[in-house]
Amino acid sequence: MRYAIVSDIHSNLEAFNIVLFELEGESPDQVLCLGDIVGYGPDPNECITKIRETANIVIVGNHDHAAIGLTDISYFNPYARDAIEWTMGELSEKEKGYLKQLPFNTEITKDDLFLVHSTPKRPQNWNYIFTVEDAIENFRYFTQRICFIGHSHVPVIIKMDNSGGIEIISEEAIIDEEHRYIINVGSVGQPRDGNADAAYAIFDKERSTVKIKRVSYNYKKTQEKMKKAGISDYLIDRIALGR
Ligand code: ZN
Repeated sequence: MRYAIVSDIHSNLEAFNIVLFELEGESPDQVLCLGDIVGYGPDPNECITKIRETANIVIVGNHDHAAIGLTDISYFNPYARDAIEWTMGELSEKEKGYLKQLPFNTEITKDDLFLVHSTPKRPQNWNYIFTVEDAIENFRYFTQRICFIGHSHVPVIIKMDNSGGIEIISEEAIIDEEHRYIINVGSVGQPRDGNADAAYAIFDKERSTVKIKRVSYNYKKTQEKMKKAGISDYLIDRIALGR
């Protein structure tokens, strides 16, 4: 079984289309999406349509929740808030209905996977895993070998041994029986690790490998669309910088 895992597409259709093109070559058995399909970018409805066509499992993200009025956006920064308000005006009732029924988390029992947008611990609080302590605490909130997450837009593989020792891996790891893993697959539409290229992950169950992949896309086209939509310069600039 090979899985492609995508997250944080953020209405960036140009980035998502390139990732989907790459996935045609990867030909995974299943595509998993960890949420934040919308928010920030210019093509919310189109990205939802593509996800519905391609993903086998989809988890809700905080921007998806916010765009249908289910999450308080007072804690969002003003740029994110403006973009969510713009997104709310763009989404059709059909797309809103789709976002509304997405779960906070799920598991794939046969392959020992747990999927969540933010954190295994109280996903609806939309906290982040930034530190080793955050990671160690969150390993207690799922039982599976691997948990895939998104939310921070920074790809990373966190590996924990039986005695709680943590190893941080950036790109590629062998999955073994002696460890458990929290894997952040990075962001398709708004990477924040200093690399503007779209990120996604490939998990190969039989080979016991996981790999974070990157692919460049025409972010200038996304920027033009954002400008036309009246989305803030701050959000337009950051996708070129990967931050
Ligand atoms: Zn996000």
